[in-house]
Amino acid sequence: MTEVEEKIEKKAVEKTEKIEKTEKVEREDRPSKKFRKPAKKKVCAFCVAGEKTIDYKDVAKIKKYITENGKILPRRQTGVCSYHQRELSNAIKRARNMALLPYIGE
Ligand SMILES: [Zn+2]
Repeated sequence: MTEVEEKIEKKAVEKTEKIEKTEKVEREDRPSKKFRKPAKKKVCAFCVAGEKTIDYKDVAKIKKYITENGKILPRRQTGVCSYHQRELSNAIKRARNMALLPYIGE
């Protein structure tokens, strides 16, 4: 092996080592997708309050469960139980019909 060839190989080895190092750092910086914090279980606010029916005239309460665009929020975001979500969606729809809540936007 000549001197030049040796030099070339040394450089190549150095380069690959550098690349491996940077890759390792990048991997460590990236947050792992496997370990996500388990979401805190939400409790249905209506069950806690002990309400069976939801009044469509109670706009202040219902307003918390719609977006600013007037859409009904999904259960996975509000934590309302299936029974009360159904009651809630009925109440919101009634309130919309009575012009207490908007169909679209504010
Ligand atoms: Zn409930």
